[in-house]
Amino acid sequence: MKKPLATFLEKSEEKAFSKEHRKRINTNMVKYHEKVASGKKQFKDLKAARETAKNIKAFTMQKLPELLEEFEKNFKARGGKVIWAENIEQAQNAILKILRQKAAKAVVKSKSMITEEIALNPFLKEQKIEVIETDLGEFIVQTKGEAPYHIVTPAMHLSKEDVADLFNKKYGTAKDASPEQLTAFVRRHLRKRFASADVGISGGNFLLADTGSVVLVENEGNARLTTTMPRTHIAVVGIEKMIPSIEDLDLFLPLLATYGTGQNLTAYNTILSGPRQAGEPDGPEDMYVILLDNGRSEILADEHMRESLYCIRCGSCLNNCPVYKNIGGHSYDSPYSGPIGAVVSPHLHINSFEDYAHLSHASPLCGSCTENCPVNINIHQLLLYNRSYEEAENLRPSSEKWMWQIWKKAMLNRKLMNAPAFSKNVFRKLYLEKQWGERRVLPKFPRNSFNQLWEKGKI
Ligand code: SF4
Repeated sequence: MKKPLATFLEKSEEKAFSKEHRKRINTNMVKYHEKVASGKKQFKDLKAARETAKNIKAFTMQKLPELLEEFEKNFKARGGKVIWAENIEQAQNAILKILRQKAAKAVVKSKSMITEEIALNPFLKEQKIEVIETDLGEFIVQTKGEAPYHIVTPAMHLSKEDVADLFNKKYGTAKDASPEQLTAFVRRHLRKRFASADVGISGGNFLLADTGSVVLVENEGNARLTTTMPRTHIAVVGIEKMIPSIEDLDLFLPLLATYGTGQNLTAYNTILSGPRQAGEPDGPEDMYVILLDNGRSEILADEHMRESLYCIRCGSCLNNCPVYKNIGGHSYDSPYSGPIGAVVSPHLHINSFEDYAHLSHASPLCGSCTENCPVNINIHQLLLYNRSYEEAENLRPSSEKWMWQIWKKAMLNRKLMNAPAFSKNVFRKLYLEKQWGERRVLPKFPRNSFNQLWEKGKI
């Protein structure tokens, strides 16, 4: 299997030079920015809202063990079951165990990045269990055999013509079908699957400690059907998704909606507090919450990195990142792309730190991510932190270390600085230009160095 660095180099090269890709992403981003500007108007004091959100998340992280226990106690009190998963393997096995108990052959799934993190779809496919994605964007990328392109809009990179062509080949819909016709087709197609699926699997946007609830935020209503129509519902949620109280939602729901899609509030906001209760007409008979760690406790223990756990996965830092807009989501080869993906991917136990260390260098450190984060995470500082960690752990490539040693030696040695321009230019061509990248032009060394010109009295 290809390493993330190899994928990054290959895909970023391809995407950065694709005018079509750039045009498509920029068109979507322009629409996004217009909507966000209008969504922000709902806040009387946006700065204060963001600061408050950050403070609540900071408090939550300080009290996370207690809040998780409080969540567990309250969720169990209403008949829910909680499973703690330390890593991907434990989460996968816990899900498989439930599916085997229920003799499940097919599951419906709503959009969730955490199930990408635990590679659930390929895992269940190996176990001969069918997974049906029910979010429109996820359904499209699943049909195309791709990973989600963006943490909020998984099929952002595809045009309506691409989707019409894909569905024509796969499902025989009209070649020139409109987005409305395609959506109606998917709706019809999925209705049957909701009704027949044995188990529904979702993620969770927030966990509420005081009510023991999982909150789901969406615009299509598919998550609501996924979590209530099948007899069993499994929610896989990262432990960092906790907030202390249901009362905090009046801040977090509008913030997520505004920064995610520019809405005041998303169309469907669902609070699930356990399985169907006596006398209730609908809902699953069983509800499980799998609380995933997978490296989050280590992030929590690191006083610098802890801040990355405040993320509410709105996607704003991706949409504001000049690098993401050029290389696109698939180049990152991680469930979490863009600036926050570059920050957390090396620390989550998806691959090793080394496998994702290069992502922290794919940034001009312009700070646009930080400026546009609803919970004020210092994202660009965390990218720098990752770089310094990499250096401290001696993880940089040896060729780079040599380059810096040579540079230091040369800068401290007058003879080398004043070496003939010809030899310096041979070195530039054979070594420095290779390191600097094919498309970047390094200036030639002039005939005389500054020092030589100075001595000749020419300066
Ligand atoms: S880091 Fe901030 S801007 Fe980026 S996805 Fe998370 S909450 Fe949104």
